[in-house]
Amino acid sequence: MFEKILIANRGEIALRVIRAAREMGIKTVAVHSTADSDAMHVRMADEAICIGPPPSNSSYLSIPAIISACEITGAQAIHPGYGFLSENPKFVQIVEDHGLKFIGPTAEHIRTMGDKISAKKTMQALGVPCVTGSEGGVDTLKEAYEIAESIGYPIIIKATAGGGGKGMKLALKREDLEEAYKMAKSEGRSSFGNEAVYMEKYLLAPKHIEIQVFGDGKGRAVHLGERDCSLQRRHQKILEEAPGPEINEETRQRIGKLCANAISKINYAGAGTIEFLYENDEFYFIEMNTRLQVEHPVTEAIYNVDLVKEQIRVAFGLPMSFIQEELKINGHSIEVRINAERLPNFNPCPGKITQFHAPGGLGVRMDSAIYDGYSIPPYYDSLIAKIIVHAENRSSAINRLKRALSELIVDGVDTTAPLFDPLLLEKEIIDGSYNIHWLENWLQASVENA
Ligand code: ADP
Repeated sequence: MFEKILIANRGEIALRVIRAAREMGIKTVAVHSTADSDAMHVRMADEAICIGPPPSNSSYLSIPAIISACEITGAQAIHPGYGFLSENPKFVQIVEDHGLKFIGPTAEHIRTMGDKISAKKTMQALGVPCVTGSEGGVDTLKEAYEIAESIGYPIIIKATAGGGGKGMKLALKREDLEEAYKMAKSEGRSSFGNEAVYMEKYLLAPKHIEIQVFGDGKGRAVHLGERDCSLQRRHQKILEEAPGPEINEETRQRIGKLCANAISKINYAGAGTIEFLYENDEFYFIEMNTRLQVEHPVTEAIYNVDLVKEQIRVAFGLPMSFIQEELKINGHSIEVRINAERLPNFNPCPGKITQFHAPGGLGVRMDSAIYDGYSIPPYYDSLIAKIIVHAENRSSAINRLKRALSELIVDGVDTTAPLFDPLLLEKEIIDGSYNIHWLENWLQASVENA
């Protein structure tokens, strides 16, 4: 096994990886910017190296600084977490060129799936159903009009390099198309350096259902069921659960096998997530994430697995520690994301935490890197904690989540935690019927009623 690994990330996900490594007897190296000298991942790792000033471009995204940190400390492998360099094929190539191991899939798989047009083509060829849309990219406005006429409005225009909800524009009718097309292109160019766009039919009431897959890089692959991530604001997930409240065992096995077969055919290595929109019992592929997801703990809870340990094992060349037949669902799990943001506008709210208490007790897991007296820097993502509950069934999980939220104390900064109290009383949340548009409508209505 590796003796030492470096974690090219910060916050709760860096801690998550450090924890798995420590249980495996692997030493850890944290990297950090000057803004994160007091961060928990720096304290918790066996060694820590400062790799640059606060802006991510000069630290967490600095490939030379991270490679040097590996060379100085003798780390043999790099875990990228999510975000930052986790889906950067150039980084993976450089890591391997330096004789280090990247804990994740190959540069080629990341490149193929990172471009949404090539991802869709690849998945289609592997027999995975996709949303109706353009065959590949759309290069002119004239072409956009023609395609829109043939598939019908509403249409969504997406930047092929987009991510994190950025680079997507909606055209409800013909009059909206020109602006949506130009906006998606310019957002693609400014945020991702790539102005290529493609088009899809905009689905009116789907759920976001994603399948967790795992491969050993040698053709063996399994699926670990689905997560329902339909509760979204601005295409960003806020609450995730597994299993999906509207997915039965037959549907799960049907789509799960399809996904496992697809990644087995391409010899995919490590954890991956195949994202779908789900409507009227049909799945439509939208994208694949070639990394660990923020919401991976709900899958870990119901399948009783450690996905990070599994990633490390497979990266080292060991087989996966489970086979498909052993993967059985136990109970229900829900995760909520707590951000340092001020309601009702969700404006980032960095600052010093004056008092902190984490919820605990049976079936409660909190993944977070904050502590009493910690100052949340303004430079990075505003996610400060994930509360994950696990119980024997969905209604007990909701009750447990309410109980856990009632124990959480974060003083000194505003957080999104209070949002969940009213949400967990809503009929569509309680019965699990909420779709990807539900939260936006609910937020709109609460502003109007205020
Ligand atoms: P990103 O890479 O930015 O996360 P995705 O392609 O994964 O973008 O889409 C994010 C979210 O946007 C989806 O979960 C869904 O809510 C919405 N979305 C994407 N494509 C469509 C579509 N064709 N119709 C309706 N909603 C969509």
